[in-house]
Amino acid sequence: MTAQIINGKEIAQQFCDDLAQQIKQLKKMPKLAVILVGDNPASLIYVRNKQKKAQEIGMECEVFHFAELAQENEIVTLIEQLNMDKSVNGIIVQLPMPKHLNETHILETVQQDKDVDAFKQVMSGALWQKKAPWASATPQGVLLLLKKYVDNLCGKHAVIIGRSNIVGKPMAALLLNEDCTVTISHSKTIGLKDIVKTGDIVVVACGVPRLVKKDWVKPGAVIIDVGISKVDGKLCGDVDFDEVKDVAGAITPVPGGVGPMTIAMLLKNTYTAYLKQMDNL
Ligand code: NAP
Repeated sequence: MTAQIINGKEIAQQFCDDLAQQIKQLKKMPKLAVILVGDNPASLIYVRNKQKKAQEIGMECEVFHFAELAQENEIVTLIEQLNMDKSVNGIIVQLPMPKHLNETHILETVQQDKDVDAFKQVMSGALWQKKAPWASATPQGVLLLLKKYVDNLCGKHAVIIGRSNIVGKPMAALLLNEDCTVTISHSKTIGLKDIVKTGDIVVVACGVPRLVKKDWVKPGAVIIDVGISKVDGKLCGDVDFDEVKDVAGAITPVPGGVGPMTIAMLLKNTYTAYLKQMDNL
């Protein structure tokens, strides 16, 4: 079997083209504020890509770039100003932040109706209760890909590798909300390979390059690789793509799979936040 290659880049582009059409109908441009602290090379690229895509679809995106040694109160003060600023619809803080900063405190400062990354604790809780206005961008992008490649998610066994607050846990909630049977695994899981082999769907987000091998995968399973690592100067995911594509039913490549979907969903969340804020005026 040779897997269908899930072209996240193309699906994200179609999604953004549709979003651009919807934005054209609005009275004013939605605006996303991005806070970046320090010069982490990967973060600089992610932020640049977000800004470029936002501008492409007619959304304003302002980046607030702090020095590596910025003080927490400076960042908190800016977030409080952005919370009050009616021209700003969404606020994100690019992670990871330098170690001297209290990430939780900074993320919790973002006003809930502008938390377009859905990283606040209240947003995580709302997602598990099916009451969230939107979910974190990456798992939401994964779900959109799965809906295109799995006929009916109901009852399917989804195995997730990774339990982070930004990918693994919200992914589990979203798939549970779609009536999948969900198994969440992590670094302490015993017998991971055998568990993965029972998955009709496998979402891998652990940051361990090429962890998932051909003999871990049920023939025909849909494999979504969220991981991004650099090995020998080249990007690769958490799945051994060259091996696994011979067994899986469908698989995302790295790059060109989940990454572009993440940006598309972030912009969609900002658009949704804009609509909700306009409704509440
Ligand atoms: P994270 O916060 O470091 O979490 C990693 C998770 O994987 C943890 O739950 C950890 O378990 C688990 N894990 C680590 N080693 C494992 C192993 N050998 N077997 C099973 N589980 C293992 O990472 P993250 O933020 O979720 O990101 C995961 C990956 O996705 C990274 O490569 C990141 O760069 C990438 N990412 C990509 C996008 C995108 O848009 N494509 C977005 C976000 C993240 P414990 O909880 O036990 O430590």
